[in-house]
Amino acid sequence: MNYCNQCGGPVQLRQPAGDDRPRHVCNRCGAIHYQNPKLVAGAIVEWDGKLLLCRRAIEPRYGTWTIPAGYMENGETVAECARREAREEAGADLAAMAPYALLDLPFIGQVYFIFRAGLAAPDVQPGAESLEVRFFDPAEIPWSELSFAVVRQVLRSYCADRPHGIYPFRQLAVPHEEGEGQDWQCGGHPAG
Ligand SMILES: [Zn+2]
Repeated sequence: MNYCNQCGGPVQLRQPAGDDRPRHVCNRCGAIHYQNPKLVAGAIVEWDGKLLLCRRAIEPRYGTWTIPAGYMENGETVAECARREAREEAGADLAAMAPYALLDLPFIGQVYFIFRAGLAAPDVQPGAESLEVRFFDPAEIPWSELSFAVVRQVLRSYCADRPHGIYPFRQLAVPHEEGEGQDWQCGGHPAG
């Protein structure tokens, strides 16, 4: 950040009085520009025992498979975000959503909230951000072609829970070393 979005003045990274870390502070109007983590919502979508995956038509990780997910917009709830992303990326109408997993990615300032969901109908079609959408049997998940470590982690957890038919809410850790820069980002909706 170089310029203040309130007055256009130059911005400097410094620690405001009473704060415990450096912030972008405007030299002209004094506005403090806080930067906070972004929340990504998504869903593991099940239909007839299979899982819906989307092949990315956008960078980063063009051509890899992912679950529908993306950054929250202002004015929507976490569940609404997951529903919107599924609609946009896969033409999918989510039903029977249940919270499933929370994944903290503090090293890139993101939090993922993942639902399990069914579909109102099995009609899906790739949206502008997807090359194709497909239902995979869990045994056919293309592990080596998944887009992000966070997607691998949540699908691993799902596949471990699935034989028991019980899906308790999971707070999943994602090892930092698995995430190399861009590999972690959910590129569906570039950060504003
Ligand atoms: Zn300013």
